[in-house]
Amino acid sequence: MPTTETTLLQVAQLGHPILRKKTKEVTNISSTEVQSLIDDMIATVMDVDGVGIAAPQVYKSIRLFIIASHPNARYPHAPLMEPTAIINPKIIKTSEEILKDWEGCLSIPGIRGFVPRYQSIDVEYTTREGRQVKQAFTDFVARIFQHEFDHIEGIMFIDRIESSKDLISEKEYQKLMNKKKPPKKILHLKRLSNHL
Ligand SMILES: [Zn+2]
Repeated sequence: MPTTETTLLQVAQLGHPILRKKTKEVTNISSTEVQSLIDDMIATVMDVDGVGIAAPQVYKSIRLFIIASHPNARYPHAPLMEPTAIINPKIIKTSEEILKDWEGCLSIPGIRGFVPRYQSIDVEYTTREGRQVKQAFTDFVARIFQHEFDHIEGIMFIDRIESSKDLISEKEYQKLMNKKKPPKKILHLKRLSNHL
């Protein structure tokens, strides 16, 4: 039930302690406070050409994030989906396959990282209507989910890169994209850490 007016929110930048804090479960999903926060987060992520945003990035230390994959200037190849609020999520299963691909973060402007993520995940979460759902995600949307899930655990994508050489500027990333390199599959299988 979207509320009528939205406000664009300020995004916390790398170094702000709220990005490193453990978050609390959302208990009052149907409250005006949470519902209008969801609307404001969706308006904010669309305004800044993001594909996801997590509550700690807008200074709220709760287990809530938005996935809003859509093609835009920052992610020209993103699949189109309805912006979705993910509340109190759990990752219940992960694929053996891990893929490395480029990610950015609204809290780390101007930098891209080549980040390993599970290719597919099974998840559970509560919707903004209060419904409990189970869902499977693969590839780019699975990547967004894992990136945003990390935010509510206080983890940033720079914590997950394997080498500092996997960090590049936005300008160099744009050059790479023009060559359209496919994601790299990691051949040595391993688990990603849950305890960064
Ligand atoms: Zn981020």
